[in-house]
Amino acid sequence: MQNLKLPFTKETVEKIVEKYPTPFHIYDEAAIRKNARAFSAAFSWVPGGFRNHFAVKALPNPYILEILAEEGMGTDCSSLPELLLSEAAGITGEEIMFSSNDTPAEEFVKARELGAIINLDDISHIDYLEKHAGLPEMLSVRYNPGRLKGGNAIIGVPEEAKYGFTREQVIDAYSILKARGVRRFGLHTMVASNELNSDYFVETAAILFDLASEAAKKAGVHIELINLGGGVGIPYKPEDRPVDIPYVSQGIEKLYETKIRPSGLHPVRVIMECGRVITGPYGYLVARVRHKKETYKTFVGLDASMANLMRPAMYGAHHHITVLGKEDAPVDHVYDVTGSLCENNDKFAIDRKLPEIEVGDLVVIHNTGAHGHAMGFNYNGKLRSAELLLRPDGSVKLIRRAETAKDYFATLDYPGLG
Ligand SMILES: *Cc1c(COP(=O)(O)O)cnc(C)c1O
Repeated sequence: MQNLKLPFTKETVEKIVEKYPTPFHIYDEAAIRKNARAFSAAFSWVPGGFRNHFAVKALPNPYILEILAEEGMGTDCSSLPELLLSEAAGITGEEIMFSSNDTPAEEFVKARELGAIINLDDISHIDYLEKHAGLPEMLSVRYNPGRLKGGNAIIGVPEEAKYGFTREQVIDAYSILKARGVRRFGLHTMVASNELNSDYFVETAAILFDLASEAAKKAGVHIELINLGGGVGIPYKPEDRPVDIPYVSQGIEKLYETKIRPSGLHPVRVIMECGRVITGPYGYLVARVRHKKETYKTFVGLDASMANLMRPAMYGAHHHITVLGKEDAPVDHVYDVTGSLCENNDKFAIDRKLPEIEVGDLVVIHNTGAHGHAMGFNYNGKLRSAELLLRPDGSVKLIRRAETAKDYFATLDYPGLG
């Protein structure tokens, strides 16, 4: 089921907006902690240890990273600023997975400095990494299963995807790295995004477990870490069902017993890089209705825009909307819920059935805790909103202030601006 229950009431939000005006994203700390704990607990059977490395791109805020670190998670980074965020939040060394692609040299250098586990995206990056940052003691490689694995709507067909090594390249890479002094090895794949089919993740583990055994034998190396990637979806649409994490874990445990234990790789560390499923359902974009407009349709204009939440415009993604204080009112009106960007796709919902909306109403857009604020942009001079943290004791902490016009002009050196 969708997470439609709000952790706050209209009265609470009216109080919050006195101090922090709309729009803002607000994250439910208690729910994030509970979810993170349950996720890790589901994999406590892994003999070599399990850790989810939270994909920083989903919610790149150090306050959130700190909370997740307290719950036993590391980070998955793919850029220099993400590495810096991770470092600032006290997450370093092998608590960081650096899964980047088309990587600049200085990012490899920083990842080496932090002692992160570098996950190579291409066989040519062996020479590139060696030249610019030197080869570390441990390296992971990213496998692209190509035709072995069916596609996914967001990432597409693996053969068309720009990521990872072919099967032959994985085995060659281990041999080359071994000859150059690398001693510890990891294997990674990530072929889905926002995938809701639980079996998909068990199949991915089967593919990786098989390849790890084969590659370890053929290249004569010890693979100590298997990274199943991220991509676990969340139920955005009313009819969606969440991925059954305990079921996925049990499926992977069975495969571990049949594939890893007899292969000589036991005990292997199993890790994941989930972002969306960790924080996605526990973030909310709160906005106020600014205008209501009747033409060929009825439009409700918010004080938020696609600069604050791009997913509906970018993917046609569905995000549930609650009108605060009207939770039990009849859903007997149809609206396009829009932002103010000069792009007609700046709509949070099209032909959405909602209770009757009036100017001044507070609306909550659900499931914005991952790839929400993070995807924000400044096109059309739109400014990114604040991020708030709803603490377990009910207090609210500002964890990122809203942008001002001055921020927007910060990179210009021009009289009268900045
Ligand atoms: C985006 C990404 C993730 C996280 O994806 P979610 O859908 O947020 O779980 C993990 N690993 C890599 C390499 C990614 O690019």
